[in-house]
Amino acid sequence: MTASSHHRPLAMANVPHWDFTTDVAIVGFGATGACAAIEAAEAGAAVMLFERSSGSGGASALSGGEIYIGGGTDAQLAAGFADTVEDFTAYLKLAGGPCVDTAKCEVYGREALAHYQWLKDQGVPYRGNYLPGKVIEPTDDSTLIWSGSEAASPFRQQARPAPRGHVIRHHGWGGGRPLVDILERRVRDLGVDIHVDARVVALIVDDDRVAGLVVRIDNQHRFVRARRGVVLATGGFVFNQAMRARYCPDSFRINSPIGDRDDGIGIELGQSVGGDAIHMDQFFTTCPWTIPAEQAHGVFVNTVGQRFINEDCYHGRVSRCAIDQPGGKVYLLLDSAHFTQPFELAGISIAGTGETWEEVEAELEMPAGTLSATMAFYNRHAHEGRDPLFDKQQPTLVPLDQAPFVALELNFATSYFSFFTLGGLKTSAAAEVLDRGGTPIPGLFAAGRCTSGLPAWGHGYSSGLSLADCTFFGRKAGHNAAQ
Ligand SMILES: Cc1cc2nc3c(=O)[nH]c(=O)nc-3n(C[C@H](O)[C@H](O)[C@H](O)COP(=O)(O)OP(=O)(O)OC[C@H]3O[C@@H](n4cnc5c(N)ncnc54)[C@H](O)[C@@H]3O)c2cc1C
Repeated sequence: MTASSHHRPLAMANVPHWDFTTDVAIVGFGATGACAAIEAAEAGAAVMLFERSSGSGGASALSGGEIYIGGGTDAQLAAGFADTVEDFTAYLKLAGGPCVDTAKCEVYGREALAHYQWLKDQGVPYRGNYLPGKVIEPTDDSTLIWSGSEAASPFRQQARPAPRGHVIRHHGWGGGRPLVDILERRVRDLGVDIHVDARVVALIVDDDRVAGLVVRIDNQHRFVRARRGVVLATGGFVFNQAMRARYCPDSFRINSPIGDRDDGIGIELGQSVGGDAIHMDQFFTTCPWTIPAEQAHGVFVNTVGQRFINEDCYHGRVSRCAIDQPGGKVYLLLDSAHFTQPFELAGISIAGTGETWEEVEAELEMPAGTLSATMAFYNRHAHEGRDPLFDKQQPTLVPLDQAPFVALELNFATSYFSFFTLGGLKTSAAAEVLDRGGTPIPGLFAAGRCTSGLPAWGHGYSSGLSLADCTFFGRKAGHNAAQ
């Protein structure tokens, strides 16, 4: 027994006794675990849910509660956006970039409208209106916002743009807590046997089948028999320094991990029985540089004065491309017509000012003719309404020619580049955990940020993709584990 851990499963033959027996055992009570529990219970299974904290929540409860949904929702149609399943699915695939899981995009593309209805059926409220403009989260109770790079190149050419971020009806930031509370009520109403302060430390296997859990409760090991299946819903690994060092070293360029103690244990539990882990180098990041929204008119340059992105992309894509740049910082260039004080939380400082772009360049100690040439080229074409380098679109594309000028510094070490990991267990579109050969591991399911799912590629992340993935594939995991 003592040899079992999250790296080594316990053989059923060595289980001293069973403390609990159930059909489906779920690990983690964030959005993923809650949705898995609801579906498993509705499929008629006896369900136990184990959560290491003293209550539900996880990163899900810290979130904005925004879910990426398309294909023609009531909110989209009411606002005049005739989104189609084809365009929505095409965008999901583009957002996955080189890490895309085509099967997951296609099933979610087809079933997202039904999933939206399911969320409403659980009691999740939506006001149904559209909030235009560039916002990170609505501060009123609006529903529909632009939450990705849909209207920016190169996405706009390949999938007809539509806003798809759907936010729970809730005033202010932080719709994740009410979202989880509503899901928790459903879980409780369905009679799921919930154990909090219960930390899963190992899987139990019966030959090649996952057959249960070792759970630490009241400082003792408890042995849980899961007759039909185990669902891992434990979140990512952004707070596990050793895993980040091993798999995701680029994330050490920035300093503000977000989540709820995400330690990657679900990934390691899956690996302990042969599960594959993929795209472990991928992470989402964003620095809130679009607050206030005027700032989005700016131009980003790296430390050698060169642009690297069309700034009308989603703030997370711009931020992720920013930290690919050399030198530990990038600059956001603005003229007096578009400058307002940055959001304090962002930790963005003024690094240089000038009456001309040449003066700003000199103040930033860049070689003469670098930043100034970038801005001369940019402004010349912006006056003509085009951006030949990156295809930034109007109305975000404006000449920056009203002196004085300013360079804001987004410093990778000191500015607020919040981030969380995207890599995890490889799962099928039915949420089965797959081994390195692509074969399902009997009895083991997983979803959410302990898996690689819809938000697979940091450079393509759009707000709402993670909770879409967690809630939708959490449901698949629970339903299929109950079979
Ligand atoms: C501030 C913030 C805002 C965000 N906003 C959005 C947004 O608006 N839209 C969006 O799509 N995404 C958003 N995200 C990302 C999103 O919230 C997360 O990626 C997602 O909620 C992860 O859900 P999960 O169910 O996989 O993990 P979690 O919600 O973290 O749940 C995992 C649970 O498992 C438990 N657990 C872990 N290990 C064990 C163990 N060994 N035994 C028992 N229990 C265990 C944890 O305690 C936790 O409760 C945001 C994230 C943050 C931090």
